[in-house]
Amino acid sequence: MADTVGMSTDTTELTATAGFRFDNSYARALDGFYAPWQAAQVPAPVLLKFNRALATELALDVDALEGPLGAAVFSGNQLPQGATPIAQAYAGHQFGGFSPQLGDGRALLLGEVIDIHGQRRDIAFKGSGRTPFSRGGDGKAVLGPVLREYLMGEAMHALGIPTTRALAAVATGEHVLREAGPLPGAVLTRVAASHLRVGTFQFFATRGTPEQLKTLADYAIARHDPALVGSEQPYLALLRAVSERQAALIARWIGVGFIHGVMNTDNMTISGETIDYGPCAFMDAYDPATVFSSIDRQGRYAYGNQPGIAQWNLARLAETLLPMLSEDADTAVALATEVVNAFPERYQHHWQAELRRKLGLQGEEPQDEALMNGWLDLLQTQRADFTLAFRHLSDAAVGGDRAALRGLFSEPEPLDAWLARWQARCAPTGDAAPELVEQMRLANPLYIPRNHLVEAALAAAVEQGDQAPFERLITVLQRPFDARSGLDAFASPAPAGAMAGYRTFCGT
Ligand code: AMP
Ligand code: MG
Repeated sequence: MADTVGMSTDTTELTATAGFRFDNSYARALDGFYAPWQAAQVPAPVLLKFNRALATELALDVDALEGPLGAAVFSGNQLPQGATPIAQAYAGHQFGGFSPQLGDGRALLLGEVIDIHGQRRDIAFKGSGRTPFSRGGDGKAVLGPVLREYLMGEAMHALGIPTTRALAAVATGEHVLREAGPLPGAVLTRVAASHLRVGTFQFFATRGTPEQLKTLADYAIARHDPALVGSEQPYLALLRAVSERQAALIARWIGVGFIHGVMNTDNMTISGETIDYGPCAFMDAYDPATVFSSIDRQGRYAYGNQPGIAQWNLARLAETLLPMLSEDADTAVALATEVVNAFPERYQHHWQAELRRKLGLQGEEPQDEALMNGWLDLLQTQRADFTLAFRHLSDAAVGGDRAALRGLFSEPEPLDAWLARWQARCAPTGDAAPELVEQMRLANPLYIPRNHLVEAALAAAVEQGDQAPFERLITVLQRPFDARSGLDAFASPAPAGAMAGYRTFCGT
């Protein structure tokens, strides 16, 4: 094991200059909230993907990390100077059932750096071997899901949606045993505003002391809501802030047809970033009941259920905070309930704004609600492609060619009736203003990670070792709003029936 690609190169000197300037506040401030741990050594690390743009943002030495040093560091074989790797403790409700101890079973937080914008960012591994939280698992990750997380995170980022991002993907050179047989192993390096989750609070509310819970809440406030430090009801304000971030986030998911797939409380962040791209997928034909995850048999995490589940998860966060909201239990419950009950209204606020942008509805008119509902009804009844319907509506906005839009609907009459009402609302004197069209195009992506494209790209990379389709897809998805010639295949739904019964799987 010692004589391997990643280890035979002496990278010690380089590591010191790789640019990591760690400042590990979690390890420092939250003793007892984690287990210090080391990544497993891997036999033959190969750096498959390195996110130069993100590395630049993190002020890392991009050129040095692109070579053998990157393979050594991002496989876990070579610890960058200043890293204090830890496995974090957390609990979580998984599909509604509570697991009092989950934790980083196959992840490690290397530490935090301050990026060039002054933001503190976590740098963490996924798939770096067993930890004290691994339970029955092997602590490893498989190449396909690692590349999938890389791609999905970058796509979401390009769509302007808050998300964790991949910094690197390394093939480990070893095989990992899964149900399907031995599969190529990989390590993902992930960057996050933090890895604090609802489940982190649940762990310390059920297993920790009241002091630990307070320490955690104070840490979360200092890190994500520093303006609340010293405020009168900081913990209630924290709950409100998390609720607001989640309301805004879920509205963005809904706006692009994103289905997270496994919204367990351990996969819901305090920061408001999307995290854990396991069985996630984008919806094609519009149907709020859409579910892709093979393990979500009840449709708990269906597209249209996501706002309700976010509220349910927030209620779990609220429960953990109760002892800190008031000495009087009834008062504490009343305060928390008010925030949790306000979630649907906060979500609707964000979603209505999103839908208005997508439909080009400027200002507010009495007929808007009927217009918005009418459009969604139309999409659902005719199972129109969600992404293209909005996008082609933008293109048709200036009385332009409506053929592409019409082509998405099996019955054109109800569409034409709706379009007449929309035209009267948005462009009563004829053509819509070019600014409006431009604004609609910026709200309605043309290129999303369509399931058939993602699967084809991953299959080429994993089965044939051909990374070109994956690279091409990422490149296209980096500019989702920007129509370019020659890319029709990236904007088209899968051929009819080709993805019938499509299922996604958790990355384990
Ligand atoms: P996830 O579904 O990836 O969010 O993971 C849920 C929990 O299962 C977390 O505590 C993970 O650390 C743990 N887990 C997932 N996969 C593995 C694995 N291969 N080995 C050990 N723990 C795992
Ligand atoms: Mg998770």
